[in-house]
Amino acid sequence: MPADRRPERQSGVRALLAGEGLEALLVTHLPNIRYLTGFTGSAGLLLLRPDDALLFTDFRYATQAPAEVGRSADIEIDAANVWERLKRACAERPGQTIGFEAHALTVRDAGRLKECARRTAPVGELVEALRVVKAPEEIEAIAAAADLAQQALAEVLPTIRAGQTELLVASRLEAALRRRGSEWHPFQTIVASGPRAALPHAHTSERVIGAGEFLLLDFGAQVDGYSADLTRTVVVGGRADERQRAVYEAVRVAQLRARQDIRAGMTGRAADALARDLLAARGFAEAFGHSLGHGLGLEVHEAPRLSATAEEQLPAGAVVTIEPGIYLPGWGGVRLEDDIVLTAEGPRGLSDGLTELVELV
Ligand code: ZN
Ligand code: ZN
Repeated sequence: MPADRRPERQSGVRALLAGEGLEALLVTHLPNIRYLTGFTGSAGLLLLRPDDALLFTDFRYATQAPAEVGRSADIEIDAANVWERLKRACAERPGQTIGFEAHALTVRDAGRLKECARRTAPVGELVEALRVVKAPEEIEAIAAAADLAQQALAEVLPTIRAGQTELLVASRLEAALRRRGSEWHPFQTIVASGPRAALPHAHTSERVIGAGEFLLLDFGAQVDGYSADLTRTVVVGGRADERQRAVYEAVRVAQLRARQDIRAGMTGRAADALARDLLAARGFAEAFGHSLGHGLGLEVHEAPRLSATAEEQLPAGAVVTIEPGIYLPGWGGVRLEDDIVLTAEGPRGLSDGLTELVELV
């Protein structure tokens, strides 16, 4: 059993709160509630106070919540309205100012909070700031998810043929992911063929894959709540032509360089430039329109960002994706994505990094 990190995580949030001059925090973002208490339900409010933590949830979780949360929070089940319960808890300490997660509270719930507490204050992404640095068991879970995702891909790749639809390929890939133990698809599986591979966030469609086309597969797996996120681009039903080879090679080399040369202590901008500069040198500056990567963890997109505008330093212990791409409208595109952890000794791959061009002939 890994160490129970929840007490130290809660202490960490309390220290950050104190720095903002606040005593209590209402946590409404579910991944943050999970991080601090272990609760995985879809409805809950966590009130973190200096000396205790109260989790408000409803009758659906009357059994699950105590089993998951243990002693890391006191649980209050309300059959009707968790906000009514929160109101009572707030009334116990009327002088307290309650911070709330401005990025994770709807306008309607902000109104409810106002009815509960006399004084409230928006706070930034405090819990997310702690979540950036992963503990060993979190890194292991992401590596396990990546391993499972790779096995699913290896199973499905040999079955892909020209003439199949993108949706057929996605259905096989998703079935393989689930069969191998993925708890869920952390995001919509992207299977995009031919010119549709030029859409970085293509929806998988009924399109029939043509011979000699690129097929881009961007998919995830989830283990213990932690996500892996991989992209591979292959050629289906033929050999790559010269232009496909040149585009693929540009992405492969840029991705490899970024994976090898990224370091803890760099800014997200400097990391992004590792790949962007190489792509620009080959004339693809305009064709790489998104950022290099993002953090991975309980959410599939979380801090830190690897982008041209990210000035924050990347800490050791962060897990990030490295996913440069080239997108040429009307023609197609290539993206390659691997997951790595930044350590004091350098980057370590959590996915296999096998990016040599695959031609399914
Ligand atoms: Zn992805
Ligand atoms: Zn990604």
